[in-house]
Amino acid sequence: MLVTYDGIVVGRREIGENSCFIDILTDEQGIVEATAHGAKKINSNLLSSASLFSYSTFCLNKNKMRYTVNSAKPKFGFHEIGADIEKLALASYFAQAVKFCTPSEQNQLESSRDSLVLFFAVSLYETLHAGEQVTSGHTRTLAAVKAAFELRYSSMLGFAPDLVACHNCGHYECERGMYFLPRKAKLVCADCLNPDFEGDRVLLLPETLFAMRNIVFSPLKKCFKFSVGEQAEEQLSEIAEDYFLYRTERTFTALEYYKKL
Ligand SMILES: [Zn+2]
Repeated sequence: MLVTYDGIVVGRREIGENSCFIDILTDEQGIVEATAHGAKKINSNLLSSASLFSYSTFCLNKNKMRYTVNSAKPKFGFHEIGADIEKLALASYFAQAVKFCTPSEQNQLESSRDSLVLFFAVSLYETLHAGEQVTSGHTRTLAAVKAAFELRYSSMLGFAPDLVACHNCGHYECERGMYFLPRKAKLVCADCLNPDFEGDRVLLLPETLFAMRNIVFSPLKKCFKFSVGEQAEEQLSEIAEDYFLYRTERTFTALEYYKKL
């Protein structure tokens, strides 16, 4: 049976001299593992589509539970990420995260309003272009891209923090500031925070809260589009990483590697 999916290669394992297994992220079937016969031959028409981070339309032959790549038409290649070790490490962390959190053979669009494939493509695009000036005087850093990925992806997995307003009084902002309670995934304003509360809390810089709301509530294509100063970026980075790792209950080797660079 032939099936066609738009997907992105998030993993690849070599088999013998000429072929490989690829893990394709799809919206319809989650992660699909497929054999790409002859993909490493220099004249193979799968050469670029079977490479890591290639975004293509894959035509697959499904036989029982096994897939083989019949043909593929590239939509977009992110292989230039490989030219920058830090970008490659970050993209590898994203791929590891998505592979771990996406079940095989399961429709992803039922559990989220967003296309996971599109989200991953946008994440790779932003990683590739990090460090380039986006508006006059503002450059989106890799740290901001990483934070946006972690927070938005947490939301897509069903762990969206409640960032609309203070959980207690319903105010959108507060002169004395807003606290984020990461374990409870909600906001409490400084006026409402119980002085006896001993759990984790972060007094958010206004810029940090603005960025967090943008990441969680914007349409997919805009969730990376925000600008923060150095201090807010540091705060946002800490919050997003901690939030994502706590919800997914694990660490990622690719993340450890990225942080060592
Ligand atoms: Zn309040």
